[in-house]
Amino acid sequence: MNFEENAELKELIRKTALLNAIKHDGKAQLGPVIGKVIGEKPELKTKAKELSALVGQIISEVNSLPLNQQKSIIEEKWPEALMKEKVEEEKRLPPLPNVEKYSQVVTRFSPNPDCVLHLGSARAIILCYEYARMYKGKFILRFEDTDPKLKRPIPEFYNRIREDLAWLGCKPDEEYIQSDRISIYYEHAERLLKDGNAYVCTCQSELFKKRILASQPCNCRDLSSEEHMQRWRRMLNGGYKEGEAVLRVKTDLNHPNPAVRDWPALRIIDSEKYPHPRVGSKYRVWPLYNFACGIDDHLMGVTHIIRGKEHLTNMVRQEYMYRHFGWKYPEAIHYGRLKITGAYLSKSKIVQGIREGLYKGWDDPRLATFAALRRRGITPEAIKKMIVDVGPKTSDVVLSWENLYAYNRKILDPVADRYFFVHNPVELTVKQIPRVFVAKLPLHPEKPERGFREYVVKPKGDDGLAAFWISKRDVSLSKIGGILRLMELFNIKIEEVNSFSVEASFVSESYEEARKVKAPLIHWIPVGEDMPCQVVMPDATLAEGIAESACKKLKPNTIIQFERFGFVRIDKVDAKLIAYYTHK
Ligand SMILES: [Zn+2]
Repeated sequence: MNFEENAELKELIRKTALLNAIKHDGKAQLGPVIGKVIGEKPELKTKAKELSALVGQIISEVNSLPLNQQKSIIEEKWPEALMKEKVEEEKRLPPLPNVEKYSQVVTRFSPNPDCVLHLGSARAIILCYEYARMYKGKFILRFEDTDPKLKRPIPEFYNRIREDLAWLGCKPDEEYIQSDRISIYYEHAERLLKDGNAYVCTCQSELFKKRILASQPCNCRDLSSEEHMQRWRRMLNGGYKEGEAVLRVKTDLNHPNPAVRDWPALRIIDSEKYPHPRVGSKYRVWPLYNFACGIDDHLMGVTHIIRGKEHLTNMVRQEYMYRHFGWKYPEAIHYGRLKITGAYLSKSKIVQGIREGLYKGWDDPRLATFAALRRRGITPEAIKKMIVDVGPKTSDVVLSWENLYAYNRKILDPVADRYFFVHNPVELTVKQIPRVFVAKLPLHPEKPERGFREYVVKPKGDDGLAAFWISKRDVSLSKIGGILRLMELFNIKIEEVNSFSVEASFVSESYEEARKVKAPLIHWIPVGEDMPCQVVMPDATLAEGIAESACKKLKPNTIIQFERFGFVRIDKVDAKLIAYYTHK
């Protein structure tokens, strides 16, 4: 087919480029446009090179137009395409409830910086971020760091969490840190005390528990609000020690769930003993989770709280406080549990394992932290796609590593270049090679435009010898007398196998002949065109071997595919190549 004269194809490309341009501030992008066109006309897949040239040409025409002109062309010629595009984009997640009641949708992600983030947080982050984007709203990051004793924040994690969000492509529009907001919590505590909606309880916890289980008020509850204000000041100025007084929010003492009844809102922490890493010993009265979170959600204008269903009881607790203040509780969406089998998701286990030296760091490949996933070459796009597909449904979902790998593979496969890595290398000597061979190995089998690696095999001596590295595992594919094909090179016959070396002779060149005898295709590296390579596997073991010399020019962070081995992320390029295994 002649591309240049195919008016229908040109029109399709023009439409696709214009739609892409108006999504990207007037600048269409080559890759996505080619992808869309091939999606509609899969037969063009084999003509990628010509197609790419034509698309490039049309894109430069389209990109030279101002954005408003691009829009008006689409509106005039393909109004239905514009509609379709809109529907596709918004269909990805089910709509949020009652959006029309609010001038702007505001969501928040509120981690405690006592651990790095891991896959278990992905759902909260991605749903909150994506919904904020979907409604052109606001996404807030709020550090909930008000427990310097039991959930002690770690200074480095504030930044690590910011980096994780940036890596995920979920940059917040606003950021707050609760330990900067203590005076706000105090003001609200006082308002509750003055209005008789909270009290300072000095009961021993066992006694309080007994009363509350019987739906009975403790002796403190009905004292005057003046008395409680005095107790409050004693809490603040050190008149009570840790554990001697707690501020409680009044609820219905007959609430069916005893854990809801008169829940604790602020308590004393001996901050000389447990200084806060950001504000030191400045405060001794610290808000508990429901109090700080509830107040912040209102003050920060959060309209939609999207979180796990384990928070349902917290909502019931906080609703009492909202009624005391005369506030309206935000819309709350509670999704089910997302379990990823085989992933170490417990924060405490991660922290303990690091402390005991079981894991090498926060990015140890055995962990499901974002840092580890990043190092292994799991893309944020794959995580995002998986979470958006699961959505905010209330039923529990079980996923496996394989599910995540499948999403990731779909993203990597078209973009990752191919190279040879010989695991457990064995030296192969091939004799009777009749002439010089030049192997041209494409960087990507479906994308010749990416280029290739070239290795010259020059036989030496009267015997026509050449030496290669092949993998020990591949040696076992063939017995003495068996035929193997060195990929994109020639076919050989195995003659002798020792522990560290194999001898073979040249048989023929064509792939057809290898196919006829069903010869296994194996990869190879010419001796002298190699560099040592170490692949860190997901279980933290090391796969030692040899990579082809073309890998010397790879940049760290590139994700490639070692043929017949798996995808890897290049970690370090030095005298030795260090890579992290992604997946098959
Ligand atoms: Zn009491």
